[in-house]
Amino acid sequence: MLIQQQLTPSPISATVDFAAPGVHHGFLRLPYSRDDAAWGSVMIPLTVVNNGEGPTALLTGANHGDEYEGPIALFDLAARIRTEEVSGRIIIVPAMNYPAFLAGTRTSPIDRGNLNRSFPGRPDGTVTQKIADYFQRVLLPMADIVLDFHSGGKTLDFLPYCAAHVLPDKRQEAQAFDLVRAFGAPWSVKMLEIDAVGMYDTAAEEMGKVFVTTELGGGGTASALTAGIAMRGLRNLLIASGVMKGEVDAQPTQWLDMPDDDCFTFAEDGGLITFLADLGDRVEKDQPIARIFPVSRTGLAPVIVAARRPGLFLARHFPGLVKPGDCVAVTADMVEL
Ligand SMILES: [Zn+2]
Repeated sequence: MLIQQQLTPSPISATVDFAAPGVHHGFLRLPYSRDDAAWGSVMIPLTVVNNGEGPTALLTGANHGDEYEGPIALFDLAARIRTEEVSGRIIIVPAMNYPAFLAGTRTSPIDRGNLNRSFPGRPDGTVTQKIADYFQRVLLPMADIVLDFHSGGKTLDFLPYCAAHVLPDKRQEAQAFDLVRAFGAPWSVKMLEIDAVGMYDTAAEEMGKVFVTTELGGGGTASALTAGIAMRGLRNLLIASGVMKGEVDAQPTQWLDMPDDDCFTFAEDGGLITFLADLGDRVEKDQPIARIFPVSRTGLAPVIVAARRPGLFLARHFPGLVKPGDCVAVTADMVEL
């Protein structure tokens, strides 16, 4: 089955030549036959910049459709970039899961696909699986450096951070952490995944690519502060990786480590959530960080949610109502790197 998928060509075609010198704006065209367009396509915006020898950086936003700092920074870069600023190649896809981005939803409205759980994808699968397959077999192999922007979306909020994973290949890991430092977000994280299967991150890292990601705010919007962090960090990362000319605008950053699953606190009850601490606060193990009121009737006491390990309060559930199993809070250790 896997061999059959590898032999099947991707149905996606790029309208620009990835090798042509200069700045080229175009699309990844994915045929999508549907009621309102029998021979229609999903047109995923793409910019490719080529200028001589050098590494290739693959830059993506809206892997989840309701996360905005990445698309802001990447549409901004694509509108401004000039050939002479580049040494090598930059491939910009500001809205990777474009149907989800247009709908303002985490997953695709076409097939409910969560692109970041769809790798390696399928050329003969759903729209989301076809996008994953194109990145897996066409775009990732071209790249040396991969930056994938995320934010909290509508259901989470984060202190703005840039991150990379702890990896078995320590050289690959060190290159990624060097770029995280250069990005210069207020916080930098050695990241642990709670659900790494099917992730773009994993696909890139298994190919030996230097992979960097972010979580830059959330709540389904972007602030002036977080959009600014994204734009400055993007430029810094491209300069530090040698694909863009200029000077890194170095920023202080506090490193954080997420050493185990106790960093994540999950709700066991649903209801109306009220936080007792805010992002950026230091919390102790077993410290109450939220209360959840049952809302089926009045007169019931709230359930206390306590931090499972001490640390900095890094991320939280965003909406006012919570369901059993939702991630309520993430705490991380402040460390030196
Ligand atoms: Zn995301």
